[in-house]
Amino acid sequence: MKKVVILGGGYGGAALVNELIQHHLPQDVSILLIDRMPFQGLKTEYYALAAGTVSDLELRVSFPIHPKVQYVYGEIQDVDLEAKLVNVEGHDPVSYDWLVIGLGCTDKYHGIEGAEQYSSSIQTFSATRKTYARLNDVKPYGQVTIVGGGLSGVEVAAELRESRPDLNVRILDRGPSVLSAFPGKLQRFVAEWFKGHEVEMLGHVSLSRVEEGQLYDGNTDTSFLTDVTVWTAGIQPVELVQRMDLPKDLTGRLLLNEFHMLPAYNDVFVVGDCASMPFSPSGQAAGAQGKQIAEVLHSIWQGTTPKLGKLKLKGVLGSLGKKSGFGIMGNTPILGRVPRLVKSGVLWRSKRHLG
Ligand SMILES: Cc1cc2nc3c(=O)[nH]c(=O)nc-3n(C[C@H](O)[C@H](O)[C@H](O)COP(=O)(O)OP(=O)(O)OC[C@H]3O[C@@H](n4cnc5c(N)ncnc54)[C@H](O)[C@@H]3O)c2cc1C
Repeated sequence: MKKVVILGGGYGGAALVNELIQHHLPQDVSILLIDRMPFQGLKTEYYALAAGTVSDLELRVSFPIHPKVQYVYGEIQDVDLEAKLVNVEGHDPVSYDWLVIGLGCTDKYHGIEGAEQYSSSIQTFSATRKTYARLNDVKPYGQVTIVGGGLSGVEVAAELRESRPDLNVRILDRGPSVLSAFPGKLQRFVAEWFKGHEVEMLGHVSLSRVEEGQLYDGNTDTSFLTDVTVWTAGIQPVELVQRMDLPKDLTGRLLLNEFHMLPAYNDVFVVGDCASMPFSPSGQAAGAQGKQIAEVLHSIWQGTTPKLGKLKLKGVLGSLGKKSGFGIMGNTPILGRVPRLVKSGVLWRSKRHLG
């Protein structure tokens, strides 16, 4: 029996498994998915778990049950590409015929002293649970600081505002404003929402040091007091991928050929936030790429050459609490209640589809 081993059952890995089992798998091929969790965690919604507006249970999607799919749950420690073995804590080494690396990303702290130690993360399910506990234990009228005004920072700040109206919520960014990668109209809409909901926004802040209860701005030599700091100021592939001595792009993502394979190891595919792609990492991109990897594997099994189309993404959606949001469809910003409803609809559909 030949084995496809998939590392990580997130947006990329889960899409791949679902796609593989929906089409006919050859008699002599089986799938093994390895993850530390016995379900997919819907990472795109971790901001709501952190803020306390959804429960843990609502963000878990069961992995598919299928006679050809097996699971190993544990911490993946490393991969030996020469010996074709994966080491998982507490398990015998796992061999593979084809490997897919889909382990997602972790925080990037840009070398800022104390940032990792004194901030809270939303990059893993487990870290987000801790962040939830810290945020919801802040004393009444305490101060929360979100570092990084990108999509996830904005979503955390807005959701927390609704969850804890008593708290002082502040969002810091190195650029002039939040969501600097988005069109001006959208930026202004979000800034107005924050102003109306008393979320403080501070731009041009370049943190030089983080301590317990205090953040230092290297630009102005001033500091900010804080009860809890949430880090949303950058991502990079997980540590296991950081350790791999292979060609990478400037953000540390693994370089691939047109079939999503490592150029030097054509039996190894990479999906999602670990893969170098022509667009920003996203759940949507990971899912689309997972489906293409399934196509490539089916072609290999049929002895044909895969013909992959261009990966197409539908746009970006973000939430501002439960009633408002923003998005980009094509090049057009959409603002207010409609994108929020669309985002809820997309989540509902993906839960049904994945589950
Ligand atoms: C707050 C927030 C909001 C976001 N909003 C959006 C959005 O609106 N739209 C969008 O498209 N994207 C969004 N994203 C980005 C999106 O979540 C990621 O791009 C996507 O999850 C990447 O998919 P992936 O399969 O690469 O990794 P993941 O979905 O992160 O899956 C990785 C899997 O690997 C497992 N894993 C990792 N390391 C190990 C290990 N050592 N051992 C065992 N298991 C391991 C994890 O448990 C996990 O199941 C958001 C992200 C955040 C944090």
